[in-house]
Amino acid sequence: MSSPDPRSLLDKVWDAHSVRELANGQTQLLIGLHLIHEVTSPQAFQMLREMGRKVRFPGRTFATVDHIIPTDSQVRPLSDSLAEDMLRELERNCREHGITLFDPASGKQGIVHVIGPELGLTLPGMTIACGDSHTSTHGAFGAIAFGIGTSQVRDVLATQCLLLARPKVRRIEVTGKLGGGVYAKDVILHIIRTLGVKGGIGYAYEYAGPAIEAMSMEERLTVCNMSIEGGARAGYVNPDEVTFDYLRGRPYAPQGEAFERAIAWWRAIASGPAARYADRVEIPGGEIQPTVTWGINPGQACGVAEPLPRASEVPDDERPGLAEALAFMRLRPGEPVAGTRIDVAFIGSCTNGRISDLREAARVAQRGHVAPHVRALVVPGSQEVARQAEAEGLDAVFRDAGFEWREAGCSMCLAMNPDKLVGDQICASSSNRNFKGRQGSPTGRTLLMSPAMVAAAALRGAVTDVRELI
Ligand code: SF4
Repeated sequence: MSSPDPRSLLDKVWDAHSVRELANGQTQLLIGLHLIHEVTSPQAFQMLREMGRKVRFPGRTFATVDHIIPTDSQVRPLSDSLAEDMLRELERNCREHGITLFDPASGKQGIVHVIGPELGLTLPGMTIACGDSHTSTHGAFGAIAFGIGTSQVRDVLATQCLLLARPKVRRIEVTGKLGGGVYAKDVILHIIRTLGVKGGIGYAYEYAGPAIEAMSMEERLTVCNMSIEGGARAGYVNPDEVTFDYLRGRPYAPQGEAFERAIAWWRAIASGPAARYADRVEIPGGEIQPTVTWGINPGQACGVAEPLPRASEVPDDERPGLAEALAFMRLRPGEPVAGTRIDVAFIGSCTNGRISDLREAARVAQRGHVAPHVRALVVPGSQEVARQAEAEGLDAVFRDAGFEWREAGCSMCLAMNPDKLVGDQICASSSNRNFKGRQGSPTGRTLLMSPAMVAAAALRGAVTDVRELI
């Protein structure tokens, strides 16, 4: 009888895709799925042209337009001429190299990390690369997915391979059951707060435990999305029945008997009971509260009812960062984050722009009206999410409550499009980064939280414990 496999999912997928090991310890890794968008691909295609190379496997690259696309109207030509030029460039590159592009006319356009899963392009056991930091999202299916830079986008286009160092694996077990009003977003903000924004450097995070296993696929996508914010380049969940049920019938997933055969392989690549890890962490799920960031990185977060930290309560080396963050955010130590007045509410992004996010936010939105001083936007993560939401009447719920209902795109997550904060506005946001200037104004301030918490803040005009409303 063979001994049990000591490899984690990461090791099994890595081994299966390894072309060769280099003397410096790096692996030449075959990339199963390459996703591109309009911002990080043009220079890569240009480099390819200059090298006289073609795309090696055009059938393994898929494109969408998300970062720059306006969300008020996507009628061509786009109202923003720079956005129109970038979309035309992407169209030209895709046409020239035989790559499938999901543009607004396709009905399948959306944020790259939303459309990959919903189309069934993202599958367990795959290696996935995209020129975007939040590619870790796709790990929710048991894939190993990395964000890459522009020159690596060129490498994947030219060779379908990447040179990478194998990360160590830290297993993060979220035990117990989450409380009411506590969402996947709270779980990942809590994990990052606990382990730090640099805690995951050199690691891939394997999320496990009863609270993770109880999550839907969309909730797992939210958790994996923010792995990079904790310093881990990749994060994943072992595939299970939830994964297989989500994928069954998706357009690009295997169909019929092929799907059943695929399930057998997907089960085999999951980490088994004998899997070895470089590190293990246990997080009690029942202790996680609705969580809000108060600073300028996603680790500067606290439970909604908690007071903001005082300098005397943090280690010496964290004091300068604390002072800088509180000064920028104009928040006072010792005071609760609840009650912080907001100017803008943003529900969307690849972290929380999926249908289940919109359903939870709408459940809160239907309880009142957006406060008069607040501008509130709901931006579906994809055209498919928008269609589903409209079929369920969620757009009407949001509009009746005073929210703007927009078209699919990254919108105010990164503000590379007309959706931007103005001046020092403060935004309750369901996105994933609260860095200075992230939402389009150098002095704009971002408070990250779950979509339901954003809806509650929009209604009350200030940060609110969503549990008071649901
Ligand atoms: S929604 Fe934000 S984080 Fe996600 S792909 Fe777009 S800009 Fe990047």
